[in-house]
Amino acid sequence: MSKQIEIQSFNEKIIVKRVIGNISGTKESPTVIAIGGIHGNERAGLNALSQVFNNIEKENIPFKGNFYGIAGNINAILKNIRFKNVDLNRIWTKQEVQKLYNGYDLEVEYQEQYEIYIIIRDILKWEKGPFYFIDLHTTSADTQPFITISDSLNNRKFSSNFTIPTILGIEEFLDGPLLTYINEFGHIALGFEAGQHDKKESVDNTVAFLWLALVAAKCVKKKEIKNYSFYKKSLSFFNEQQEFYKIDYKYTIKPLERFKMVDGYKNFQEIDKNELLAFSNGKEIYSSYKAKIFMPLYQQKGDDGFFIISKISKFWLKASRILRKLKFHNLLTLLPGVDADLANKHTLIVNQKTAKFLATDIFHLFGYRKKIIEKDKFYFIKRDRKVSEFL
Ligand SMILES: [Zn+2]
Repeated sequence: MSKQIEIQSFNEKIIVKRVIGNISGTKESPTVIAIGGIHGNERAGLNALSQVFNNIEKENIPFKGNFYGIAGNINAILKNIRFKNVDLNRIWTKQEVQKLYNGYDLEVEYQEQYEIYIIIRDILKWEKGPFYFIDLHTTSADTQPFITISDSLNNRKFSSNFTIPTILGIEEFLDGPLLTYINEFGHIALGFEAGQHDKKESVDNTVAFLWLALVAAKCVKKKEIKNYSFYKKSLSFFNEQQEFYKIDYKYTIKPLERFKMVDGYKNFQEIDKNELLAFSNGKEIYSSYKAKIFMPLYQQKGDDGFFIISKISKFWLKASRILRKLKFHNLLTLLPGVDADLANKHTLIVNQKTAKFLATDIFHLFGYRKKIIEKDKFYFIKRDRKVSEFL
């Protein structure tokens, strides 16, 4: 836990330790918690965090509330690999966290998870909210910056502070990301993808994003930040206004499958129906959508081949906001084949027939995301919720 190691990253010497930085400002709230390097080969977040913490201290920038920078998979960061045995951003479920308590002699990634878990738990216990969690990433393919969030109204609102495309509901396609776990306790949690792993711009984009996030959370005033308008402009470069996207499809790579993406795809690139996207064991994979490609895989590790996304209409965003505020979701249980889960007030149990008949989109509209599928039942989990005790 006390490990502190100097590494060379983006031609800079940075210190990697579990808590990279910690500012206690003049007021008790809010509290911003940023995590860098939960994937060990995504170091830009670590460089950016050390820069921002250094700046706040050196320039004595007036600060309200608390700001924590946490290093993710330290062992993997030192080796510059995504992870050793287990992806540290795919093991945040209640069952896995419970195992940490009972476990001894934990495997390396679970040891990392345990240390991060304890720090987050203590911050939530001792500091004052609102809490804003930010998870800093980079991608294997070249990309403009983007944000990922669970579709809760508080997440959407925070995300609207940035003119950066925002992808809703990625958790429906991933198991156990840290942010989804934190969201379950009602906190705002946002993933920032800064650009390609090894490009210097990814560090610059993350620095800019962190400053904007600290302003949005009301920790720092715009006028205290020297380059604020430059940061704002550099992140708005690709988009004039905030746009939200939904995921239409994900290609999952099976064990032992030889998967190869066609070269040259950029994130958010338009694709046509029947366009050749990738090869699976030498066979062509064509697009069934006219939409945009998202996170095409150009590295060895990971089993998400690519995603296909499309823009969400302003109408849908507004309608879903109003319906949720009016608590119309309570009416869903009146439908045949939809039952409240007595064990969890945020969950609906939907039988397969009804799920097929009622498009998943209806549940999305009301703020539910499909998750566990057991036997012939789908579980839809509500993303909007009040803050509850972190477990
Ligand atoms: Zn990542």
